[in-house]
Amino acid sequence: MLIWIGIDDTDSRKGMCTTYIASLIIREIEKNHKVIGFPRLIRLNPNIPFKTRGNGAVSFLVDTEDLADVIDIVNEHVIEYAESESDPGVVFINPENQKLMNSLHKLSVKALKDVVKLDEAFFIIGKFFIPHLKFKKGRGLIGALSAVGMNLDDMTLELLTYRKRDRFGKKREINKDSFFQADLLCYPDVWDTVDWYNDTVVCVPNSPDPVLFGLRGDKLEKIILALKTVECEDYDFYQIFVTNQATDMHIIDEDEVESLDNFKSYSLTGKVIEKPYEIEGGHVFFKIDTRFGEITCSAFEPTKQFRNVIRALFVGDFVKVYGAMKNSTLNIEKINLIRRARVFIEENPICWKCKKRMESAGRGKGFRCRECKTTANYKILREIKREIEEGFYEVPPVARRHLSKPLVRMNVRNKHIFR
Ligand SMILES: [Zn+2]
Repeated sequence: MLIWIGIDDTDSRKGMCTTYIASLIIREIEKNHKVIGFPRLIRLNPNIPFKTRGNGAVSFLVDTEDLADVIDIVNEHVIEYAESESDPGVVFINPENQKLMNSLHKLSVKALKDVVKLDEAFFIIGKFFIPHLKFKKGRGLIGALSAVGMNLDDMTLELLTYRKRDRFGKKREINKDSFFQADLLCYPDVWDTVDWYNDTVVCVPNSPDPVLFGLRGDKLEKIILALKTVECEDYDFYQIFVTNQATDMHIIDEDEVESLDNFKSYSLTGKVIEKPYEIEGGHVFFKIDTRFGEITCSAFEPTKQFRNVIRALFVGDFVKVYGAMKNSTLNIEKINLIRRARVFIEENPICWKCKKRMESAGRGKGFRCRECKTTANYKILREIKREIEEGFYEVPPVARRHLSKPLVRMNVRNKHIFR
């Protein structure tokens, strides 16, 4: 029989990683049963405040005649490896139950774009008699069910390497240049390996979890080429996942909703109504007028050179912004400058004789050239040259969120890519 296994919330900020435990489980299950295809790493709503860094759950499809044995393997691994501060949940789903799969799909969309209560997960488990493992409160059941239910119309791949156990928590030994070399060879089929402008290897985390690095891309053979190119400490093993990373699946289009809420991600069109301003720490803000009224948008310091794009906006620019709503402010991940406003400044007129700028002749008395005795009544308008072009801009790789679709994957014109 075929059975989907969904697993989530085995990690905490202090360490471990659900993908790692899932990979160990897969290796154990494969000794006596069959795992079909790649496991799936499903990222859910990144804006939920109490979640661990990535909010990623894992699911994979198993072919077995002995479900009880499979459940034992999963149970033993979660007990042995899950972080003490985590709240794990595992589900075992029969893929032939269409009604169940439909309700899991609905749940997964909500877990991706909105907030799901634990009771909603328990309701589905009770309604469909779903075999499951619950540890402590079982918050992980939400992600476990969602990881099975998520439909992937768009998908990408990530290859994760895991450190040898005696290296956990120690500084990661890597040859930085080799990662830049891998990027040269494999971009754009593999992205966010490094950030050239900010001189950073992006694919190597700083967290205490077992991941050594993760290679993200669309083409498996290029990901493998990148893997062969990088030089680093010996790793234990690697696992390839199908993911919803880099798909913008979390974004709710403005046409789908009547109002905006915190902890959700949106794409909104609007006109810039206030010149961008900066606060201490280098965070840049501006306001746009949308169909929901006035919305404050932000580009925080970690978005680095992306802030230069935001600083160059003017009142009247028509934009589409993509980002997460937090504290009633849209934190921008990507912007499309759809139509640039023409910007004029007022200047004193030029004397037609000597070509020098005239001076004021006194309040309400127009302008004059003292040398030539020429006069003029009005100021002149000069159009200023805009510093940015129309088109798409995005945060650089160092600031990318898992679900954000990088421009390199988008089939649009006028892309301005920070690499
Ligand atoms: Zn003059």
